[in-house]
Amino acid sequence: MNHWITPSILILALTLLSGSTLASEEVNLYSARKEALIKPLLDTFTKQTGIKVNLVTGKAKTLLKRLQSEGRNTPADILLTTDAGNLNAAKTAGLLQAIDNTVLTAAVPQNLRDSDNQWLALSIRSRVIVYSKERVKASELSTYEELVNPKWKKRICIRSSSNIYNQSLLASLIAHNGVSKAEGWAKGIVANMAQSPKGNDRAQVKAVAVGICDIAIINTYYMGVMQEKDADQQKAASQVSVFFPNQEGRGAHINISGAGLIKGAKHKENAIKLLEFLVGDEAQKWYAQANHEYPVKASIPVSKIVNAWGYPFKQDNLNVDELGKHNTEAVKIFDRVGWK
Ligand code: FE
Repeated sequence: MNHWITPSILILALTLLSGSTLASEEVNLYSARKEALIKPLLDTFTKQTGIKVNLVTGKAKTLLKRLQSEGRNTPADILLTTDAGNLNAAKTAGLLQAIDNTVLTAAVPQNLRDSDNQWLALSIRSRVIVYSKERVKASELSTYEELVNPKWKKRICIRSSSNIYNQSLLASLIAHNGVSKAEGWAKGIVANMAQSPKGNDRAQVKAVAVGICDIAIINTYYMGVMQEKDADQQKAASQVSVFFPNQEGRGAHINISGAGLIKGAKHKENAIKLLEFLVGDEAQKWYAQANHEYPVKASIPVSKIVNAWGYPFKQDNLNVDELGKHNTEAVKIFDRVGWK
C-alpha cells in the first residue's frame, strides 16, 4: 500500500517545496539610493534569510517613470528613495500599497510614516546651517526664518531649487508658516545669496571654505562624509561648523530616506521581511555609522562625528508626508521668486 502512496506524496511534497523556495528566493528593489549605500545591507539580509535581492539603482525621477511605464507588469516590489517628497510622488501616482505590519509601525515613529502607511522612513537627516568658523559666530544664528535678515546679504550659499531637499525644506516652511510667508522667505534667501545656485551640498561647504559665502544650508550626512574623505574635503569641512536651526521653537527640519511597497508586488512577504530588516537594529546601526545619518530608532547610537555636532537635537516633528503634500506649491514659489 505504502509504495502506491509514496510517489504521489513525494511529488506533492516536491511541488510544495519548489513552489515555496522559488517564491521565497527573491525580492526586487528599485533604489534611488546609491549602490554603495545599500548593497552591504542587502548582502547581510540575503545571508541571514536566503532571499536574493535584485537591485536596480537610478535617479528617483527615472525610477518613478519606469514604474509608471511598467504598470502592473513591473517586477519591482519595493521603491527606496532619499526624500519623503519622492515617496509621496510615488503614492500620488498610485504606485504604492498600504503596508500592514505591526513590526514596522512599532519601529518607525508615526511622523516618519505616510498617513496611509504606503511608505516609511529608514533613516533621518536634517537640513542644517553650516557656517564659517572664521567669519560667523554661532550666536548670530537662530532660525531658518532669520536667514532673510539683510545682515546675511551676499553671504548665503545654497543649491538649486530643482533639488528635492530644498523643495522639502520650503514645503516644511509652507506647512508651518503658510504660503505667503514661505514665499517671502524664499524671496529673502534669493536676495541674500552670494552666488547663483550651483553645485551639490558639498560644493556649498567648499564655497564657504574658500570665502565665496559665510553660511550654507546642507544635509547633515554630507558634512559627516566630507570629514572622512580625502584631504581636500576634510580641509573644507574643518573650516565650518554645524548649526541646528529653530532649537528654541519647532526644531530643525528633518527629511528621510525611506521605502514604499509597490502595488501588486509579486514578492510581498519577502518585501516586508526586507523592510523589517532595514528598520532592525543591525541595519539601523549600519546607516548611522556608514553614512552618518540619524537612525529612526532613538535607541541606536549615532556615529562619533555626528555625535560631536550635538545629539540629540530638537527635530521638527512635522509629519514628513506634509513635505510631499506641499511640494507642488514649493516648486511654484521657487519659480515665482527666481530661485534658479
Ligand atoms: Fe543626498
